[in-house]
Amino acid sequence: MGLLTETLPNLALARPGLDRHAELRGQPDLLDRLLADPSTRVLEVHGDKVPVLLGHADDGDRPDDDGAGTAPALDLRAPVPTDADALVLFLGQDGDGTAYLAVARPAPEVEAPDGGVWERLRGLRQVGADLSDRDATVFATALALANWHATHGHCPRCGAPTEPIQGGWLRRCDRDGSEHYPRTDVAVIMSVVDDRDRLLLARGAGWGTGRFSVLAGFLEPGESLAAAVAREVHEEVGLQVHDVEYLGDQPWPFPNSLMVGFTARATGDELRLQEAEIAEARWFTREEYREILAAGEVSPSTRLSIARRLIERWLGHDLAEVAPD
Ligand SMILES: [Zn+2]
Repeated sequence: MGLLTETLPNLALARPGLDRHAELRGQPDLLDRLLADPSTRVLEVHGDKVPVLLGHADDGDRPDDDGAGTAPALDLRAPVPTDADALVLFLGQDGDGTAYLAVARPAPEVEAPDGGVWERLRGLRQVGADLSDRDATVFATALALANWHATHGHCPRCGAPTEPIQGGWLRRCDRDGSEHYPRTDVAVIMSVVDDRDRLLLARGAGWGTGRFSVLAGFLEPGESLAAAVAREVHEEVGLQVHDVEYLGDQPWPFPNSLMVGFTARATGDELRLQEAEIAEARWFTREEYREILAAGEVSPSTRLSIARRLIERWLGHDLAEVAPD
């Protein structure tokens, strides 16, 4: 594979925006020191949402910003004493040496009626495509790490409670001393084309009508990425593929994934659907796809997703040119 060639450059959530400074994580007083420093920037994570400032002034560092000054920004703040009661995660530092922490709590059960922080909470799917590189990195990293902590409170060896250490980048079992690192689930996502350059799009079982996307699936243990592409395509639509080519990858913290994007060419075009997973699948010419998109018969994937970028690469232009957001 031509790894790390930027065939799909500047994927959302994949642009570096923060130096993680892993070498600082072992400092025993790291979190206490940063929580005592008023220059530290804190992101509150409530479940899978964070407070966002909407209508933030344009600072020229926001992808897809039309210059109207409407791009959102994370509502970061200085530390407060109650932060130490929550799960505190060290995310890294920016180029100025400012440190970033996430303070993670479960989702609020009661909506505040008055303009409090709850009214400003937004999910990464809602705002991720319009955040600055720094804010997108801060949000995606905080979310992926907090999601991992939320489901790894006990030791997989002995069942005893585990405790976060190393600035939140490790959990250790009190009973047997075993150490457990954050996990990322790898998924492959692929644009499959036939020998007439038509694109295969499918509607997953349980998806609404009009929602078509490229195929995707999780990497299995003991499998290479290219083998996963071939297996998933064969399982889901019965096709054999060749010329599997890496195009780019993207963190996808819903809850803990990395999406690795490929294109592949199918041998033949006859589809045999896996009914439990695929409700419908079709080959599209570019003209056919543009027509149903313009007619509103398919809804494009979110601008945040590599799925949309894969489709746009095949189409040759942005979907927004046919179906404005
Ligand atoms: Zn244990």
